[in-house]
Amino acid sequence: MVVEQEMAGIYPPDAEDFGSYLPGTDCGVCGLGNCVEFAEAVLSKKSAPHACPELPADVANVMAAIVVLDKSPIPYNIMMEQVDCRLIEIGRPTADDPLLVTCNFLGTVQIMQRILEKTDSHAFLLPIFTHGYSVDNAVHERMFKAIDVWKSMQENDVANKIDHQRIIIPGLAESQKNAIRQLTRWEVVVGPVSGFLVPLFILKK
Ligand code: SF4
Repeated sequence: MVVEQEMAGIYPPDAEDFGSYLPGTDCGVCGLGNCVEFAEAVLSKKSAPHACPELPADVANVMAAIVVLDKSPIPYNIMMEQVDCRLIEIGRPTADDPLLVTCNFLGTVQIMQRILEKTDSHAFLLPIFTHGYSVDNAVHERMFKAIDVWKSMQENDVANKIDHQRIIIPGLAESQKNAIRQLTRWEVVVGPVSGFLVPLFILKK
């Protein structure tokens, strides 16, 4: 029997965070009182992103793809299963596309790959060694470390594959931002807490 575990939350987007990618004018043309109400309606599939005439088509398409993604909890039987810390190319990334850092927990890496692929994103996803802990647990256990970001970057020769010097770290790892910046000398941008919002985050950037 597969038991749903309680430790590795998948952090589905809430209406406020999802709504922060809407125009924010609260014009009401969509038939709702404001953008956050519209975000709630979209997330609960009572409306569709394309009902907002102010929303650019590419953003609306990504939002529509996010809404239908499977957001089931991660099954306990893969807890702490690890992946190799190899740079993963999502879509057809060019050297200008974003570098996203994550943990080396199989469940997280699989979810991030699925989110990015289903939204037609192009990016580099770099797992770092966290002993198989998910990002939230790794941060809590002090296993999400700048030195492991640096090591993964070195081992994957990231500097020669990417033209920019910018790392996007998970919102849950914000506390490590300065340490990663000091060690790598790269700009460190804190991404969203919910991995489901990463495609919108990189589109906006
Ligand atoms: S139409 Fe768009 S911008 Fe206007 S309130 Fe609705 S979601 Fe917000």
